[in-house]
Amino acid sequence: MTSSTLHQALSDIFGFSQFRPHQEEIVSALMAGQDVFAVMPTGGGKSLCYQLPACLKKGVAVIVSPLISLMKDQVDAANANGIGAASLNSSLGEKEKREIYSAVRSGDVRLLCISPERFNAPGFTDYLKTLDLSFFAVDEAHCISEWGHDFRPDYLSLAAMTRDFPGIPVAAFTATATPRVADDILRRLGLRNPHLTRASFNRPNLFYRVRLKEQVDKQIADFIRERPDEAGIVYRTTRKSVEATAAALRRLGVNAMAYHAGLTDLERKTSQEAFRHDRCQVVVATIAFGMGIDKPNVRYVIHGDLPKNLEGYYQETGRAGRDGEPAQCLLLHSGGDMAQLIHFTQAIEDPTAREAASEQLRQMAAFARSDQCRRAAILRYFGEEYPDDNCGGCDVCLGEVEREDATVAAQKALSAMVRTGERFGAAYVADILVGADTEKIRANGHDALPTYGVGKDRDKNYWKRVVEALVAKGLAVVDDSRYPTPRVGERGWKVLRGEEPFEILKMADRPSRPARRGRDRDAGDIAYDRDLFSLLRQERSAIASSKNIPPYMVFSDRSLKEMASLKPLDGNAMLAVSGVGQHKLSAYGETFLAIIRRYVGAPEPQGGPAVKKAAAPARAPAAAAGRSVSAPLPAPLPPVPRGDDVVLSGTEAATLECLQRGLGIDDAARERGVRPETIVNHLEKIIAMGERFQPSQFMEPDRLEMIAGLFQQSGGQLLRPVVESSNEAVTYLEARVARALLAQQADAP
Ligand code: ADP
Ligand code: ZN
Repeated sequence: MTSSTLHQALSDIFGFSQFRPHQEEIVSALMAGQDVFAVMPTGGGKSLCYQLPACLKKGVAVIVSPLISLMKDQVDAANANGIGAASLNSSLGEKEKREIYSAVRSGDVRLLCISPERFNAPGFTDYLKTLDLSFFAVDEAHCISEWGHDFRPDYLSLAAMTRDFPGIPVAAFTATATPRVADDILRRLGLRNPHLTRASFNRPNLFYRVRLKEQVDKQIADFIRERPDEAGIVYRTTRKSVEATAAALRRLGVNAMAYHAGLTDLERKTSQEAFRHDRCQVVVATIAFGMGIDKPNVRYVIHGDLPKNLEGYYQETGRAGRDGEPAQCLLLHSGGDMAQLIHFTQAIEDPTAREAASEQLRQMAAFARSDQCRRAAILRYFGEEYPDDNCGGCDVCLGEVEREDATVAAQKALSAMVRTGERFGAAYVADILVGADTEKIRANGHDALPTYGVGKDRDKNYWKRVVEALVAKGLAVVDDSRYPTPRVGERGWKVLRGEEPFEILKMADRPSRPARRGRDRDAGDIAYDRDLFSLLRQERSAIASSKNIPPYMVFSDRSLKEMASLKPLDGNAMLAVSGVGQHKLSAYGETFLAIIRRYVGAPEPQGGPAVKKAAAPARAPAAAAGRSVSAPLPAPLPPVPRGDDVVLSGTEAATLECLQRGLGIDDAARERGVRPETIVNHLEKIIAMGERFQPSQFMEPDRLEMIAGLFQQSGGQLLRPVVESSNEAVTYLEARVARALLAQQADAP
């Protein structure tokens, strides 16, 4: 298969003009029938690596993935691009399963997603042998290794892929692979002379910033309120602080939900779904919020506390900006965090594990306090050298951190090291400098040294920081990390001799400067018309909720921004927008083109729409709602007034979940174990917040029409006249439901 054929397919199916790094070589290897092992960071674009060959190769591709939610996303995302995909999972009934089997047989399904348990189920591989298979793909392949962090015993059975299917290529993908895990994956799957890919772990669209923590909730809220339309994740260490921050954000009007291991499954699922569907702007979470979060338009990740290690920090920040658009990573930390984490690590019983944990913590703290490029530091941790001096995407390289000259301080500290025989740690050296009166110093006779007390003007913490900075920059050297007793290195001698200056980070005693936002926006972002973008975004939400898929599956933020920038007026121009392939063009093209034309005042094209409508055109639910009521309704009522509190609570969100599954008021009340009145309270608020439903889900169209007429007669929104004029044939509750449903029509554009 030639490169131009692959590019053509990339553009036709996915609407992308270029492959991301390594995608093309992986696709080509699979097309040529070779096994593949690919280590790519989150957001690297792994799914395309198997979706594209699944479309081009004869037969069905079998994808193994560890979570039902991931499988469901795979299938929805593939279908959104017109790729036939299905998942076999335990939640399906017999009939649905039979339908899938027959669609696989007929070739309608190109991509079959399964769990490892399914693969392992008796008789399943025999079934697979009766099919025409194109290849196997193993997602999150590190689950096969005990050394990974998500070991799943059922993954071990996947070895049968290479053993029992000699002619079928196998591709394994992971974002986390230390050499040990990588080795395990290769060996356990028995990959045969695989094509190996290890992508760079650099995420160029992520901006890293580190700030001292002052008033953590306020700092977080300020950051978020500068970005009212953007979704983000806030990580906090404890459940208590998660709850506190989520509550503080909600008080400030931010639509935030909590997520931690102390909540019920339903509560957690509700938060996660609300976040995926853009109904909740911010999730405040412990690190329990992790795998399965593949929302591509997470625009920022904030750490409200110092993480335990750099690996975790990288994985968590990695959930931002999977779509390749600019995204922010903000880390807030304090000396108190460090003390708490040291306390945790010291409580680890196993000495090796304890030692490893404190070494990791030390590296994390050094990262937070360093005044060197953050990106280079992270990549170095993964064994990668970052080639440029200035990454242009971290607080240090953007010149936001303040340094102060500390040459004299460095000389004092280095000389204290030399004078004490280079046998003591940072705390002891600091004690000497501040002239502390300790037994140990007296016993060593160090109170007689000329350096004793020369640093009285600063406190002990300052001197510890100076020593740590000297070590971090290699001016002082620690030979054995178990006994960190720094000695003066070659460059340290230069500073001592006054041949080189030395600077350290200024630890702001005053509030730190806010992030300079304008600048980040320019980097990697395109200029687009914000008003048009917002109209397109509304349409996207409407389509997404009518199809019950997350908005990003309709179009990515990138696609909408490009539409709001290029302002295409016909189908051909629309195809130039990133993420618009043939399928999405015919499904949604005309709807979005119409909005753009109206916006720029361009005439509708002659001879009908420029884009052929798909068989089942996407309809905004509001429009669909209008259709389901046969006769025209009386003029719609003004919308139910919105309360000040426009954030869904946990219980309201749980109701939303039920209603979105199509339950009526009574069924939802039964399922949730609450009174119907409560459900109606929630429904009113949910509709006021912009959610749309088919009226027929709650009420017969004729009945709604009748009640609408009564409202019309009474000329207002009051319930009593309606109930009374019906001779109480209409209950208060019914009237409220009707009023809410009529309000959503009034709201419709
Ligand atoms: P991963 O699984 O590696 O974390 P995904 O497969 O979820 O990454 O892809 C992340 C995002 O990047 C998705 O929104 C996807 O549409 C987008 N993407 C993938 N490949 C390309 C490409 N070649 N050009 C533009 N966007 C891409
Ligand atoms: Zn940098």
